[in-house]
Amino acid sequence: MEFDVRSAMLLSSLFIGMMAFVLFFLRASFPATIRGISEWAVALAILFVSFALFGLRGVLPDFLTLAVANLLVLVGLSLLYFGSQRHFELTVSTRNWTIFTVLVALPLLWFSTVGPNIIAQVVLTSLFMTIAFSFHAHLIWRHGSASFPNRFTAFILGTQGLINLLRLLSLLLTDDSVDFYGSSTLQVVYVTSLIFGSMLGATGLTLMASNRLREDLEHLARHDSLTGCLNRRAWLNNCDQEMDRSRRSGKQMTVLMMDIDHFKSINDNHGHQVGDRVIIRFVKRVVAALRRADNLGRYGGEEFVALLPETGAEQALIVAERIRSTVHNATEVPGCTVSIGVATSDVNVSVDGLLARADAAMYRAKNNGRNRVETA
Ligand code: GH3
Ligand code: MG
Ligand code: MG
Repeated sequence: MEFDVRSAMLLSSLFIGMMAFVLFFLRASFPATIRGISEWAVALAILFVSFALFGLRGVLPDFLTLAVANLLVLVGLSLLYFGSQRHFELTVSTRNWTIFTVLVALPLLWFSTVGPNIIAQVVLTSLFMTIAFSFHAHLIWRHGSASFPNRFTAFILGTQGLINLLRLLSLLLTDDSVDFYGSSTLQVVYVTSLIFGSMLGATGLTLMASNRLREDLEHLARHDSLTGCLNRRAWLNNCDQEMDRSRRSGKQMTVLMMDIDHFKSINDNHGHQVGDRVIIRFVKRVVAALRRADNLGRYGGEEFVALLPETGAEQALIVAERIRSTVHNATEVPGCTVSIGVATSDVNVSVDGLLARADAAMYRAKNNGRNRVETA
């Protein structure tokens, strides 16, 4: 059985159309915070039309199957690129890109209507596709997390860029046929890779959107929405893991239990919303006083815990004192102070035991006048 390029083109067009539909559906059901999906959906709908036109070459007038189809490729690929920029929340630089697209589109239109020249059309389209795919692949590789969907999509787009570059070079350097449905090896490789590449690319974008939802939900499940630090469950999880590591390595770890002093009166005097802002500022200051490896968690309302891996009592006291003084010296109004209990692990202590000791130390700090650090 022969590989029928035209049917494959029409089938891939249908596939892209379906993926556009899937993305429209995802847009409607996913939270609005996941961006770029509508751009991708519209872009795929445009590419669906464009591929269908390519597939209907000979059936419809050349103006549609060449000029319009090529122009739609430019628009579709640009919109895909803008979609990814929005997806990764980058400031969309549509202006330069639009100028570039118009600079390619105008001569393309000229060579397909006023002064018909098929080679010039293919050169322009390949040039555009080389640049669009390469930029797009680079963007996803650089700004996307190192998850499979991002890497996969970047790889597929990068490959498309490379294949278009080879096509461009072969057009400029050899007198190979430019007929889309021609039978030269390069031509068949090109069309086949375009067909499979676009199907894989469309699938990749859909996977990227779902992957982002999973990442966002995971983040929501692990973090506190007011302050952005870990929630109690996630923090305790980290603590368990760190405790295992600490037992294996024999290195001590320390827990700081912190409770804002007289917080009720801040709420009473200034209102709950101001209270919330005080908590947010408190967390910012504590995070700045901690080291990168240290983990901050919200244990309760205005009670926070910090996990300091590979840290003995002496070093931890320095960190705790740094936190106490940076919170105390804050210039914001209303200010607050914090009482801190410090507990360092020893051979037989459990996470619960360690926390109980930190808690007891923190209450001692409260009883001894607040705005101070006590050790278990
Ligand atoms: P102490 O020095 O003994 O800790 O006194 P305190 O007033 O801070 O006492 P306590 O820790 O018992 O009170 C905590 C208060 O914090 C009670 C609660 O209304 C308030 N609170 C808890 N979570 C939040 C929050 O998310 N936002 C605001 N604004 N207030 C909160
Ligand atoms: Mg308190
Ligand atoms: Mg409290």
